[in-house]
Amino acid sequence: MTDAPQLKLFNSLNRQLEPFVPIHEGEARVYTCGPTVYNYPHIGNMRAYVFADVLGRTLSWTGHKLTHIINITDVGHLTDDADAGEDKLEKMAATQKQSIWDIAEHYTQAFKADVKALNIREPAEWSVATDYIDAMIDFAKQIAPEHCYQLESGLYFDVSTVEDYGRLARAVTEEGEGRIDTVEGKRNAADFAIWRTTPAGETRQMEWDSPWGRGAPGWHLECSVMGGKLLGFPFDIHTGGIDHREIHHPNEIAQNQAYCGCGGLDDATHSGARYWMHNNFLVDRTGKMSKSSGEFLRLQLLIDKGYHPLAYRMMCLQAHYRSELEFSWDGLGAALTRLKRMVMGIRQATSAAYNQAPNVTAPNWPDDRVDALREAIDNPKLAALVDKFVAALADDLNTSVALTVLEEVLATKKVPIDQKAILARAMMWPLGLEPLPREDFRIRPKDAVITEDEIEQALADRKAARAEKDFAKSDAIRDDLAAKGVEVMDGDPLGWEWKLG
Ligand code: AMP
Ligand code: ZN
Repeated sequence: MTDAPQLKLFNSLNRQLEPFVPIHEGEARVYTCGPTVYNYPHIGNMRAYVFADVLGRTLSWTGHKLTHIINITDVGHLTDDADAGEDKLEKMAATQKQSIWDIAEHYTQAFKADVKALNIREPAEWSVATDYIDAMIDFAKQIAPEHCYQLESGLYFDVSTVEDYGRLARAVTEEGEGRIDTVEGKRNAADFAIWRTTPAGETRQMEWDSPWGRGAPGWHLECSVMGGKLLGFPFDIHTGGIDHREIHHPNEIAQNQAYCGCGGLDDATHSGARYWMHNNFLVDRTGKMSKSSGEFLRLQLLIDKGYHPLAYRMMCLQAHYRSELEFSWDGLGAALTRLKRMVMGIRQATSAAYNQAPNVTAPNWPDDRVDALREAIDNPKLAALVDKFVAALADDLNTSVALTVLEEVLATKKVPIDQKAILARAMMWPLGLEPLPREDFRIRPKDAVITEDEIEQALADRKAARAEKDFAKSDAIRDDLAAKGVEVMDGDPLGWEWKLG
């Protein structure tokens, strides 16, 4: 086995692959921009957290002590990222005639349920923006004298006071193009509010006193403050969806430079983080991803239609995180089938391993560390596949190649079966697809008219009828099941006896 390859990550700040060298030896400190909890997340949003999870798992798996923070934005995110519009939470609370706190609580729980269903590991901390208001005010006080100015509508950051503003976004913001300059009196089109003062005569549900009047923090300020407080500047990696590369993250970077008294961005650590990583979008041509489109693409919709949530995770892993991924129901179905095959393959290898050595009670799965795995696998063919798998993940998290290597392991013949089983199972861990019992993959669509127990009973009756050569009865049972949306799969190579159509 060769030495582990150097982990390389694509740093959006420099638009290039760079070797990952932790700031604190042996550690990895990662901040991920969390959801704005004004509505259910759509599955596109969840792609951002699947990506961050694969990054975190890869870092842990390759021996780094990971500290991962994901925030919850419960205040400050306006309906337009460029400082225009209303606060998303205030707007939803008004529409639903509920308190903002209730809205935030409800959608935070819904988000966490999706995180769990997608086997995304919990971060070290869910940092909630409204818990950090005092810290935000302190941060703003520190940078205000040199970098900010006050207008009636709030405290604004003057982007000309830091070097290399907008480098992360490249051309889009350099000239202030594409920005909405809605606020009168701004010095530069790209200047942004770090504190929004409540207009005279109005009250907001969420507002706090500050030196710049009663009001609420700007969205960009939140992430600067929570990242710096919980991970310390500079930390290693900051992640988010690619839309954040254009406005939110350039603004965070400008604030961080101001706070740290740092110069230009040729030294990436001046931005507050050494690497900035962004996942590309999940796109959906049917228009169901928009949260304003009524029934939109939530994870629960997939589950209601009978897809296991990990099928969606598999779909994400099949594409590189920096490529756009198009959603389709057929694609989701194919991802589910692929996942089922893997789970079945691992199960077959595992039971063959037990049959060969029944006295082995509990294999010591080296789940969460690659070095343990490398020690456990001494068969040269399999060891070469370990190298190939590790190299794929080290190559900017190339999960699509990693998946094919896992399948190669399952297809490899004439190797010790116990090593094959251990290896395939261990490779599921960094991908976040740890094997489930295969029964878990059957999910009842919401509109199913038959329970699993009834199906199992009908299949047992059918088997008995066939044993008695009563084929009329066996066919009748099959037709009855078909009418209830259950397809009987005689002779399925993977041993799935039925599926819900
Ligand atoms: P938000 O709740 O709007 O702040 O978004 C949460 C995360 O989802 C952010 O990292 C966004 O960049 C990301 N995101 C939004 N839409 C998509 C999409 N269609 N595909 C992938 N990521 C997305
Ligand atoms: Zn953020």
